[in-house]
Amino acid sequence: MAFGKIEKGICSACESEQWIVHKNKKLCKKCNDKRKSTKANKRNADDDKWYREVFEKSNKTCEECSKQLQGFSRSYVSHILSKGAFPSYRYHPKNYNILCYECHQTWEFSGNRKSMNIWPKNEELIYELKAKYHEYAKNLKNQS
Ligand SMILES: [Zn+2]
Ligand SMILES: [Zn+2]
Repeated sequence: MAFGKIEKGICSACESEQWIVHKNKKLCKKCNDKRKSTKANKRNADDDKWYREVFEKSNKTCEECSKQLQGFSRSYVSHILSKGAFPSYRYHPKNYNILCYECHQTWEFSGNRKSMNIWPKNEELIYELKAKYHEYAKNLKNQS
């Protein structure tokens, strides 16, 4: 990534002369760091709400091994298409499985997804969701 030239200016938040690190919003480093941490906190609260909601409305059973799930853990909700590669699908109503901790680990890290019981259904969903991603991401952007 190329870094633009940093110039001095009046920060739009603290209104003092500073090096402006966020050019569009005219923010100094301190104010921009504050903006980012506020954003991260909101993201974390949104995540928590979503994970709890999808878990509560599920039947609280691992879709892979049928184990009953006790209590609540974010790890019980497994994204099918990852949040990293498909950020707009972070809260997509179809883009998750309810899995116990072990099966979630298998899905994420074993490199052996195709041997899982959930694979045939997920494979279909992956094709469907990938095909619609760009349009979905565009609509999401227009809404916010
Ligand atoms: Zn500032
Ligand atoms: Zn399981």
